Amino acid sequence: MKVGFIGLGHMGAPMSSNVLAVGHDLVVHDVRPDAAAGLLAAGAAWAESPRQAGADRDVVITMLPGPSQVEEVLLGPDGLLAGLPAGATWIDMSTSVPAVADRVRALAGSGGPAILDAPVAGGVTGARDGTLQIFVGGPAAHYQRLRPLLEVMGDRERILHVGSHGAGYTVKLMLNLLWFAYVTLTAEALTIGVRAGVDVATLRRSLLASAAASHFLEHDVLSVLERGDFDDSFALALACKDLGLAVDLARQTGVPAELSAMVEQIYRRARAQYGDDGGQMLPMKLLEDLTATPLRLSPAPPPQE
Ligand code: NAD
Repeated sequence: MKVGFIGLGHMGAPMSSNVLAVGHDLVVHDVRPDAAAGLLAAGAAWAESPRQAGADRDVVITMLPGPSQVEEVLLGPDGLLAGLPAGATWIDMSTSVPAVADRVRALAGSGGPAILDAPVAGGVTGARDGTLQIFVGGPAAHYQRLRPLLEVMGDRERILHVGSHGAGYTVKLMLNLLWFAYVTLTAEALTIGVRAGVDVATLRRSLLASAAASHFLEHDVLSVLERGDFDDSFALALACKDLGLAVDLARQTGVPAELSAMVEQIYRRARAQYGDDGGQMLPMKLLEDLTATPLRLSPAPPPQE
């Protein structure tokens, strides 16, 4: 299949590399040409613009920060829409919203590309290992046709068709909203418990054995507790973008979302404090710094001789 891939960052680079590795003819583009070096060395071709990345392609995938970059790539000067041949498909795997796809459909009419939204979960590790979870929105027939390509990047069991246009974006935004809420509330619960005198390992173990257990407390929090690593493979700027989009969606759907708005504010505070590129778990450090309570497990004792 002739595939184009635009957006070669933390996620797009390993995802496109998996597409190339199974033998697809791959053309890539990014505003940072150096992001393509590894892919070009492995056999991909370079496109000077999104428009060129679409020329003669069967499918073009975008993996961009968010709605404004997706809009620029599709509809800006030398944009992708102008380059896609008749019958091509555009799959947006960014965490975004349907507005750009709606405009593309309105502009292109019945002769326009087939469109799927297919945002992902699983982070850089999932992108590298080809085990991403993928939530697909759009017509079922296009989903079935493109599923083999998605399987190159995702876990077969966790590639889900979740509804019509935009449904994939919605599921992904709700996933991230909940996960970021776990980050902030887990930080509060652990900090309060530790300052009240309970050892963090004991507190975590007890919570894990209870109805308050979570995947976050069992797995994700360990990078902070064991290594003080706040995971800069997912930037605070992107986390704030996702939370802003989730709160916008609450507004559009008429749902009062007081806690979601508060989680967004905590993330914005962390971004102001630690910068755009800081890691997605830095809201935990905000509380550590404010209360002078580092949340760290004691290192395991060395094995006995
Ligand atoms: P990133 O910032 O590392 O990569 C984005 C890439 O897009 C960069 O290489 C950038 O140069 C490029 N880009 C930006 N504007 C462009 C333009 N106008 N034209 C061409 N290229 C452009 O971001 P990422 O972490 O790879 O995330 C990409 C998307 O995936 C985001 O929507 C993010 O929310 C989502 N996501 C990220 C993760 C993660 O763990 N990092 C996990 C799941 C989903």
